[in-house]
Amino acid sequence: MSAPAKASRPAPPGDLARRKVSVQTPLPGPRAREMIASAMTVMSPSLIHVYPLMVERAAGCMVEDVDGNVFLDCQAGVATASTGHCHPRVAAAIQEQAERLIHICGTDFHYPGYGALCAKLAALAGKMQEKAGVPEASRDGWQTFLTNSGTEGVEAAIKIARHHTKRAHLVAFRGGFHGRSMGSLSLTASKSKYRKHFGPMLAGVHHATYGDASSVERELFTRTVGPEEVAAIFVEPVLGEGGYVVPPREFLTGLRELCDKHGILLVFDEVQSGMGRTGTIFAAEHFGVVPDVIVLAKGLASGMPLGAMMAQRRFMTWPSGSHGSTCGGNPVCIAAALATIELLESELLANSRTVGASFKKLLQTQLQGVPAVEEVRGLGLMIGVEMRTAALAEAVADDCYHRGLLVLECGEKAIRLSPPLIIDETQAAEAVEIFAAACRAAAPA
Ligand code: PLP
Repeated sequence: MSAPAKASRPAPPGDLARRKVSVQTPLPGPRAREMIASAMTVMSPSLIHVYPLMVERAAGCMVEDVDGNVFLDCQAGVATASTGHCHPRVAAAIQEQAERLIHICGTDFHYPGYGALCAKLAALAGKMQEKAGVPEASRDGWQTFLTNSGTEGVEAAIKIARHHTKRAHLVAFRGGFHGRSMGSLSLTASKSKYRKHFGPMLAGVHHATYGDASSVERELFTRTVGPEEVAAIFVEPVLGEGGYVVPPREFLTGLRELCDKHGILLVFDEVQSGMGRTGTIFAAEHFGVVPDVIVLAKGLASGMPLGAMMAQRRFMTWPSGSHGSTCGGNPVCIAAALATIELLESELLANSRTVGASFKKLLQTQLQGVPAVEEVRGLGLMIGVEMRTAALAEAVADDCYHRGLLVLECGEKAIRLSPPLIIDETQAAEAVEIFAAACRAAAPA
């Protein structure tokens, strides 16, 4: 009998995944410099380009630029390459699906993957409920709407909340990031530059203090909006873009109580914190709080454009035709997501927990007493390092790039480490060594 298709496919070159950091040219190198200069004339100036990295290819945790420099990736395409770059099983699933069906439109027709992924997500959310002690009799299952991105997932959550409750107002938190389309941008309150000159925002959005559930009653319900007019509270269970902040458990349990008391939907935006990033499928699992709606994207399909808005069945009361998407839930992205979830369940959730714990511990040890650093925090492989100033955070991120380590800033003055969930102990140690050297150089004792 012939081997299954997955196993018989030739593995893509694994050499890069096994390489070490190697920066051989000044950065950017000559080819990168030339290509970037020419591209910059035709690309939207709104793009950020945190540093001048022109990527040729990537495998596992390693990224190679067009000049042959090799970097250790501790940002994973902004926390997206969950299974590592170009994981052979994900790449094979994409190729197999691309040879069978690329698109037909899941809003108007059926194909096997759409239901299969929704069933898988429902099972994962069911396990979360079980772990949180929700009795089986009160679990009515989950239904999912698939999107192309996180922001579209948030838009779908805004729409289901308004449609189901027939209420208009929405609550979010200062520091939160929920996307850049007009609805999600109205919830986003991490940096004013994301909102500047794009107003007016969606009417009926109110912001409270992240980490403090009582601020919702104190700052909003008693002063600006009655709870009976609020459709949903949107919250990241671990703050992403806003600084990789792990809130106290009482914050999320407090929000759950408020929502239960006033018939408000609790929406967890797990676009960044979900899909194994914190060592569990949903970050919610760390707090024992079950939301009514969950939004996923980023790591869901290992970097293929896919998002999900999942809600407990009793809230999915919108009728046929009330919401849809031409490419959302594309079959190729779904194939990548199913392969991703298999990898998460078989090995990567455990790796995220164990390597995440030792990575954080090593950072804490190596950075102890380093003047540039205030705090190391995080869950799983969602690790934040709070620096003393914003200038230091910028200098350290830039210096890391020059030393061959890719990291990103977040919050006002933090750096996030969100490597692919396949990172091993040796790579984590190499990352810590480079990171600590950059921190020491930024503010010598
Ligand atoms: N929500 C959170 C928590 C995010 O971190 C992001 C992106 O960083 C989004 C929503 C928006 O996702 P996307 O960029 O895929 O639209």
